[in-house]
Amino acid sequence: MSSVPAAVLVVFGATGDLARRKLLPAVYDLAHDGSLPARLYVVGVAREPLGDAGFQDLAAEAIRVGARRSPDPALLRALIEDLRYLDGDFSDPITYAELGRRLRELDDRHGASLDRCFYLSTAPAFFCPIVEALGAHGLHRAAGADARLAVEKPFGSSLEDARELDRRILAVFDERQVFRIDHYLGKETVQNLLALRFANQLFEPVWNRNFVEHVQITAAEELGIGTRAGYYDRVGALRDIVQNHLLQLLSLVAMEPPVHFTADEARNEKAKVLQAITPPSPSAAVRGQYDAGVVGGEPVRGYREEEGVAPGSQTETYAALRLEVDSWRWAGVPFYLRTGKRMPRQATEVVVTLKAVPHLAFAAQGSIGVQPNHLVLEIQPDEGVSLTLAAKVPGATRAMRVRPVLMQYLYGAEFPSQSPEAYERLVLDVLRGDPLLFPRHDEVEAQWRICDPVLEAWADDGAPLARYAAGSQGPDAAARVLRPGHEWRRI
Ligand code: NAP
Repeated sequence: MSSVPAAVLVVFGATGDLARRKLLPAVYDLAHDGSLPARLYVVGVAREPLGDAGFQDLAAEAIRVGARRSPDPALLRALIEDLRYLDGDFSDPITYAELGRRLRELDDRHGASLDRCFYLSTAPAFFCPIVEALGAHGLHRAAGADARLAVEKPFGSSLEDARELDRRILAVFDERQVFRIDHYLGKETVQNLLALRFANQLFEPVWNRNFVEHVQITAAEELGIGTRAGYYDRVGALRDIVQNHLLQLLSLVAMEPPVHFTADEARNEKAKVLQAITPPSPSAAVRGQYDAGVVGGEPVRGYREEEGVAPGSQTETYAALRLEVDSWRWAGVPFYLRTGKRMPRQATEVVVTLKAVPHLAFAAQGSIGVQPNHLVLEIQPDEGVSLTLAAKVPGATRAMRVRPVLMQYLYGAEFPSQSPEAYERLVLDVLRGDPLLFPRHDEVEAQWRICDPVLEAWADDGAPLARYAAGSQGPDAAARVLRPGHEWRRI
């Protein structure tokens, strides 16, 4: 039996895309694995007048479509019976008065105060009004139980905006109650990065400026923007992926080993990395936008022809940066970050390239293909770790011919049981009150401090918006951010 305290999960925006595709299926999968609290109520809030029964039907369908496990009818029925629905507008005080009444009713039914987890799965414009209304109605505290707030991305659209959001949230909730979602941190392979670094003696001695030539962190998508033009055209690649996910990955790659693996110690180390990064100069940042091209053998249209995108849109669908971490361990090592839509394939990976050997004694004997070692941590789609090594080409001649070979382990082959989805881990951590995998306010603000000057330079229209064909490796101009002798890894 799970030791997670009995709770009520209040989902603001419970009929939306994220709730249907991720949150409700995650709740079922947790139930299936026996990880949920002995009692979990879910209260969905949105405007559509569904009633409890309508919401239960919506949730059952979302679970059938989206859950990782094929639903067990009895388990699904038991879970669904504890779902409630409140139709109301987020800007209407009556919604919160009614929510308070429902929460008290559930406490009475349970015979004790339930932990309250408020999940903001709605447009960011509602984050502050909801938080302030929860505070005004006294729902942010529960006598004899905990209250927590989970906030979806994006967390602000600039440093100033994120600070204002923090100021207003922290006027109601304490930092320890706030769980900012960066779903990359819920991924098993991202957490595996820490196991690889800190549970193996092999890597740590070379994990520094003496041995590492450069680090590349890539999040490439084959997809375009689908039906999300309304959101994406206002946001762009830097805010959507780099400011949060890629900088979080960088902080995990570069952080010092914490003494204990507690939320505060681990997050202190990540925050130190982010605070040691100087915002990139204009020449170390490139933006691009895709034109029509071919992806997966199919012709696709250009970004400006996508439905809902302004014909002259200046929004970047590709961003590449060179950053440096000004610390004893990393001084002088470039960290290259890039993300793009309509790339040849989906690939999220961290590549650590070691320096070349100082002297190759058999250089004259056919060892032309010798490359520095690359350690590749593939986060999606084929989760695993690979290392390129130099090996002798077989042959009885005296010549010592050497070429790169791959040493690889695939997560799925080694651990055949399916990994949990990122949202399973994150929802569970919110329910049990473990903030380790949630960026703290100082991390988020440091991330904006790095990105803001780039966004400002781009908004001035001073920086060209490089073009790239859909299905290509991205704009040629991305090579500009690289130091001499470095290359982007092919996607
Ligand atoms: P969405 O599909 O637009 O859903 C919004 C939800 O809020 C709906 O349930 C909507 O229902 C409700 N709502 C809107 N206005 C309301 C109001 N005035 N009062 C009460 N309810 C209202 O949005 P989403 O895609 O689920 O995204 C939710 C959040 O998750 C956003 O912050 C987004 O950035 C983030 N996120 C989403 C994804 C994703 O894949 N979708 C991924 C990562 C992060 P009614 O219209 O019926 O009221």
